[in-house]
Amino acid sequence: MEQADIVIIGAGIVGLAIAREISRTRTAEIILIEQHPYFGAETSSRNSEVIHAGMYYPYDSLKAQFCVRGNRLLYELCEQNQLPYKKTGKMIVASGPEETAKVEALFQQGNENGVPGLSMLNARQINELEPAIRAQCALLSPETGLLDAHRLMQFYEAQAIANGVLIAYQNKVVDFRKQTDGYKIKVADESGETLEILSPVIINSAGLNSDKIAALVGIDIDRFHYKIHYCKGEYFNIANRHAGKIKHLIYPVPTSYSLGIHTRLRLDGTLALGPNAIYIDEIDYKVDLRNQAEFYKSVKEFLPFLEYNDLTPEMAGVRSKLQGPGDEFRDFVIRDESDKGFPGLINLIGIDSPGLTSAPAIAELVADLL
Ligand SMILES: Cc1cc2nc3c(=O)[nH]c(=O)nc-3n(C[C@H](O)[C@H](O)[C@H](O)COP(=O)(O)OP(=O)(O)OC[C@H]3O[C@@H](n4cnc5c(N)ncnc54)[C@H](O)[C@@H]3O)c2cc1C
Repeated sequence: MEQADIVIIGAGIVGLAIAREISRTRTAEIILIEQHPYFGAETSSRNSEVIHAGMYYPYDSLKAQFCVRGNRLLYELCEQNQLPYKKTGKMIVASGPEETAKVEALFQQGNENGVPGLSMLNARQINELEPAIRAQCALLSPETGLLDAHRLMQFYEAQAIANGVLIAYQNKVVDFRKQTDGYKIKVADESGETLEILSPVIINSAGLNSDKIAALVGIDIDRFHYKIHYCKGEYFNIANRHAGKIKHLIYPVPTSYSLGIHTRLRLDGTLALGPNAIYIDEIDYKVDLRNQAEFYKSVKEFLPFLEYNDLTPEMAGVRSKLQGPGDEFRDFVIRDESDKGFPGLINLIGIDSPGLTSAPAIAELVADLL
C-alpha cells in the first residue's frame, strides 16, 4: 500500500490549482490522481475561457466572492508568468423594458459584490464602442476577459510537479473507504491493475463525478443535496469572415440556469456562439445540428450582421450543477466534512461556472481549510 499526506482527486483546473497552491505553501507528500492520460480532459477544456467579473451571483455567495478574487488573481498570474490573456471587457445587452430592468439589477448586484468599473451604456455609447451590434442599453464590465485554459493548466501542472507533487494519470478512483488512520483509496489503471493509497487527507475535486466519489466513502448525497445534474452547453462557430468585428464579449441577459447564448471571443479574434443549457442524463459531447436555429434566433437581434449559414457546430461541454431543473440558485460546496464524521475529507461539489475564474481563489480556501 502507498502512503501520502494529501491525495487530490481530479486534474481539472480546480485540482491543479489546489495542487500548486498547497505544494508551494507546505512540505507534504501530495498525490494528484486523474483517470485520463492528461489534465483537463473534461469540463476544464470545454468552456468559454472567460475570466468572469462577478456580477451574476448573489451577494456573499461563494461564487460571488471567489469570482471577484479569482478574476484579480488570474490577471496577476497571467501577467507575471507570460500566460496569454486579453482583458476585452464585456457588455450584457438589453432590448425592451423587461431586459433593461434585469441588466440594471445585475449592475446593482455587481456593485454590491465589489466588481470594479461597472457602468451602464445607452444605445449611442454602445454604438461608439461596438458599431456592429444593436441594443437599447448595456451593462459594461471592463474587468471581464479571456484566457487560454490549456496554458493555465499546463502552468499549474508544471509548478505542482516542480514542487514535488506526484501526478498519477490514467488512474481512476474505484473505491474510497474511511479507516481508523485516514482513508484508503483504490485506483485502477488502464489494464485494470489496482493499487491502494492510504492518506489522512483527501480532496475530492472530481468535477462531474464529485458526488459519486462522496457517495463512495459513505456520504448520503441525497440527504445533503450533493447530487450533480449534468447540464450540457453546445457551441457553434461563427464564420471567419466576421473575425475581428466585435471587440467585447457580448452577452444577453442570463437565464436562471446559464448566462445565455453569447459571443465567445477567442484570443485570436475568431468568434463562436454558446453555450446553450440542456439538462441530460448521460454525459455526451455531441452538438445537435437541430439547435442551430435556436442559436441563430437567440442572438440575431443583437448581432444583426449574422446570417444563418455563418454558423457551424463546434463543441460541447457539460456543467456539473447542483441546481437541477426548476431549482433555485445553488452555490459551490467547498467544505471540510468533519461534522459528517469524515475529518480530513474536503469535498468540492457543484463547481460549475464561474469555476475556471474562481480556481485560484478556491485553491487558497482549500489551503486554509487544511
Ligand atoms: C459550457 C461551459 C462553459 C463554461 N464557461 C466558463 C467560463 O467562461 N468561465 C468560467 O469561469 N467557468 C466556465 N465554466 C465552468 C468551468 O469550466 C468549470 O467550473 C471548471 O472547469 C471545473 O473544473 P474542475 O477541475 O472542478 O472539473 P473538471 O475539469 O471536470 O475536472 C475534474 C477531473 O476529475 C477527474 N475525475 C473524475 N472522476 C475521477 C475518478 N473516479 N478518478 C480519477 N479522476 C477522476 C476527471 O477526469 C476530470 O479531469 C464553463 C463550464 C461549461 C460546461
